[in-house]
Amino acid sequence: MTSKLIENTIRPDVRALSSYHVPDASGYIKLDAMENPYQLPERLRNELAMRLADAVLNRYPVPTYATLKQKIRATLGVPEGFDVILGNGSDEIISIVISAVARTDRRTVIMAPVPAFVMFARSAQMAGCDFVGVPLTADFSLDREAMLAAIAEHQPAVVFLAYPNNPTGNLFDEADIEAIVEALGDTGIAVVDEAYGPFAKASFMDRLPRYPNLVVMRTLSKLGLAGIRLGYLAAGAELLEQFDKVRPPYNVNVLTQVAAEFALDHIDVLNAQADAINAERSGLAAALSALPGVTVFPSRANFLLVRVPDADSACSQLLADKIMIKNMSKMHGLLANCIRVTVSTPEENTAFVDALRASLETR
Ligand code: PMP
Repeated sequence: MTSKLIENTIRPDVRALSSYHVPDASGYIKLDAMENPYQLPERLRNELAMRLADAVLNRYPVPTYATLKQKIRATLGVPEGFDVILGNGSDEIISIVISAVARTDRRTVIMAPVPAFVMFARSAQMAGCDFVGVPLTADFSLDREAMLAAIAEHQPAVVFLAYPNNPTGNLFDEADIEAIVEALGDTGIAVVDEAYGPFAKASFMDRLPRYPNLVVMRTLSKLGLAGIRLGYLAAGAELLEQFDKVRPPYNVNVLTQVAAEFALDHIDVLNAQADAINAERSGLAAALSALPGVTVFPSRANFLLVRVPDADSACSQLLADKIMIKNMSKMHGLLANCIRVTVSTPEENTAFVDALRASLETR
């Protein structure tokens, strides 16, 4: 029963939504959110603690974030003449981009291939835009013809393309992405979301000068700093100027700013962890593929999409074994009986494989 107050005030589509559910993982092996299982080494954490102790917390952040942006440009290979906008995670950047294009005088379409990261559709809906999802092909490639036809029909203001894609883990074909960027031309912005770029070692950053409607989004979350919430979007000055108008002031806090600058100074440590996770991914994929009835899809990210005989029963048995993964079965027809699992430490990966094997045997 909703009260009159809620009925009279809260938008009907918001009332109909459920919250972005994040289960309490205490006591669980947490393999559901693509986090890096490793902390920074203790020596670096102690050094960071000293930096944080010196942080100026009685003032607002310096609004230009000049030092942090400079470090991002330097470590990310942002091309000369391009800059970044910062967000409280790339989640916030997604909603900044969408709120800059969401019109009140006519329909605005946000598009992505599906299955896709859920926040593309959710943020579109929150901003009053229509979300159009274009199904991937059966092997999770972009359906180039369908994407181009949907672009011609719906004239999307923004197309999000995660590279690698979540939840499928694959890298889309570069030429397909370029065809989409070109088809959008000066009618739509293409956001290449490289949240998992550090694992794929592939990027569209160097294409920025070629396409004025291309922007590239990244995050520190998957690289080992999910807790600080820092995302960034590289683009040309003209687009950044507009996005900056809808960015909440001081959206990146001083503690995050200090921690992110520190992390970028030690990016080699984070990249080495990403390399270790990539190496683990191969072993995990091989162990899972050996299980009866299990299909592992190729991944260039720090997670695997896996088809099992019965995803609901596997997930409930894994939960009973205190292992948290993501059941993707209900998300999209292409993901029937699929689960998504983060690549973790050798010990946690083994615990997962053993528990999944046991769940298959007791079926
Ligand atoms: N993009 C993709 C493709 C993701 O999978 C995620 C996180 N699951 C994000 C963006 C959001 O990342 P952040 O933690 O920076 O908000």
